[in-house]
Amino acid sequence: MRPSILNPLFAPAETLPGVGPKIAALLQRLLGREGAPALVLDLLLHLPYSTIDRRSRRKIAQCERGATVLFEASVLEHRPPGRGRSRAPFRVLVADETGDVELVFFLANHDWIQRSLPVGAKRWISGKLELWDGHLQIVHPDRVLDEAGLARLPPVEPIYPLTEGLHQSVLQRACALALARSPHLPEWLDRQFGPTRELPSFADALTAVHRPQTPQAIEPTSAPRLRLAYDELLAGQLALLLVRSHMRRQQGRAHQGEGALCGRIAGALPFSLTAGQQKALAEITADLRSQSRMLRLLQGDVGSGKTIVALLAMACVVEAGRQAALMAPTEILARQHYDTIAPLAQAAGMRLVVLTGRDTPAQRRKTLGEIAEGRADIIVGTHALLQESVAYHDLGLAVVDEQHRFGVHQRLALGDKGRAADILVMTATPIPRTLVLTYFGDMDVSNLPEKPPGRQRIETRAIALERMDEVIAAAGRAIAEGAQIYWVCPLVEENEALDVAAASDRYEALRQVFGERVGLVHGRMKPREKDAAMETFRRGATRILVATTVIEVGVDVAAATVMVIEHAERFGLAQLHQLRGRVGRGSGRSVCLLLYKGPLSEMARARIAVMRDSEDGFRIAEEDLRLRGEGEVLGARQSGTPGFRLARLDVHAPLLKAARADAENIFASDPALLSERGQALKILLDLFGKEEAARLLRAG
Ligand code: ADP
Ligand code: MG
Repeated sequence: MRPSILNPLFAPAETLPGVGPKIAALLQRLLGREGAPALVLDLLLHLPYSTIDRRSRRKIAQCERGATVLFEASVLEHRPPGRGRSRAPFRVLVADETGDVELVFFLANHDWIQRSLPVGAKRWISGKLELWDGHLQIVHPDRVLDEAGLARLPPVEPIYPLTEGLHQSVLQRACALALARSPHLPEWLDRQFGPTRELPSFADALTAVHRPQTPQAIEPTSAPRLRLAYDELLAGQLALLLVRSHMRRQQGRAHQGEGALCGRIAGALPFSLTAGQQKALAEITADLRSQSRMLRLLQGDVGSGKTIVALLAMACVVEAGRQAALMAPTEILARQHYDTIAPLAQAAGMRLVVLTGRDTPAQRRKTLGEIAEGRADIIVGTHALLQESVAYHDLGLAVVDEQHRFGVHQRLALGDKGRAADILVMTATPIPRTLVLTYFGDMDVSNLPEKPPGRQRIETRAIALERMDEVIAAAGRAIAEGAQIYWVCPLVEENEALDVAAASDRYEALRQVFGERVGLVHGRMKPREKDAAMETFRRGATRILVATTVIEVGVDVAAATVMVIEHAERFGLAQLHQLRGRVGRGSGRSVCLLLYKGPLSEMARARIAVMRDSEDGFRIAEEDLRLRGEGEVLGARQSGTPGFRLARLDVHAPLLKAARADAENIFASDPALLSERGQALKILLDLFGKEEAARLLRAG
């Protein structure tokens, strides 16, 4: 049971006055987790990324482009759309003595414009200032105010990350209401162990960032932001310790086989293992044979050959008469693992089944029977593997692939399906050393530092989007030479429908040129259609696969040697690296074309340069962290450190050590969190979504 003091925060955002179903739906898209409605708490933890400082009044010429700005200007001219062109925008020209700006209103309410922006009047205008076609413009200004209206606004206004369709002022109001609902919580920080700097209380810190008195208040290094980051890190570290101790309390089992199965699989492989694979496998099998329970992370860049290591580990457990399960984050990946493993498993005489969310009921019943009766040795699947109805005969090893998509509890939940099953987590996204601790606590780590031999460098080129014709011509030549091409269309907005539209448009355009040889896969397709599209591509029946980022993780088509990424400037480094890793898997020459739309920001330029220079995932991950530290506007949530809401490890990493030590101390003195501080810490765990850890506490 959650402490009742938290009830107001765990109420849906829709319970706030003025938040109706329409706004609630937008909030859910912006903040809701796993399809759940946004909570009052989610609003509270949604921090402004910028402010408008009304105390400094700038002229138009001094306003920063691309930022949310405020200036005073005179209304010069109304430019309504022409007759019969109702879809064209209504434009209003405003100016001060240093420059002019066009205000652009789509589907404008003409009466409102006449009233709010009469020609000749002076107005305060705020919104996102953009340079478009050589003119400064603001599309749908956030505010149009007269002097009196301006006086009613706070001197420093918080600006929040938005989602399409959600208005800044609506979100501001919702966050303010959430703040007003925030209860007074007992203090969980102990000055003796926490950060040394004097920090405000949790409630004061939230007030300081949602109602900033100065622009500095919301900066990541401000005392309130440090307090909030520390709280989140402490919750994370404490949860990891609790979960881990729960795991370790259960005695592991030794899986002892005679090695024949592994030998048969190794014999069936068309290659020999790299030194890195051998070492990782030795570490894993040592764990498997020992009495203590394995909790190990297998890290290796895309294409470094983790799957085969996992298979051999699973074989080792099967040899000892137990079952092994492999959980992948998506349907496509689960099927792919199945296809890769099936011939090898067969050669070794292991029985393999696949379980996903969309087997037919009859199929499912049959598979469940095989799993329960021990007629299946290796079970591959999606998180369907975690369902209550799945009973394992004797699960000895749980392998979780691409863990970034799974939470801590999902990883461990699969292990709990067995009697203290060993757990191997595989991650393709290289995690800088500083971060391993935060994600995994003190798991043991095996690395695959090198790629299998024979891989060639992937030639990486940056090309302006304007040269699309040349790119299409080059694609034609590549296909003629037998190559296959991935063509990735990016996130356009934080709006899936628009992304899909962009990919569909490209698909149509390429179809005009290449006809039937072009395929399409995106996140809105039915799973079966997705699979079919992937399958046709894998067979080589289609030569170009246009995709949204659904292909990002793990897909393996050896004949695909060209990766085209449209609007590469919109992707983060880690994502570009993952995408590029889809090619260069065979011995053929591979190419990655980064199509960009100029002018590039400093940041985008730097990212593209790193991509051209390096293929080393670890280096790229470090660079990614460093670049993000250098002041990218943190507009969107995903640009924060993945897995965190408030902490940014590029800035807050120094707090991590203190939080770690703090958590260890708490755990040593009060492992059940029974003291007064312990009770407050339980509240902290709940606040940061660590209810799993809290649950384990209660389970004892
Ligand atoms: P990861 O999951 O780490 O991204 P995979 O396990 O999918 O990588 O392996 C990538 C490709 O490399 C696969 O086609 C696999 O068959 C191949 N491969 C794996 N290990 C070796 C090896 N030792 N020598 C040659 N090829 C290998
Ligand atoms: Mg993989």
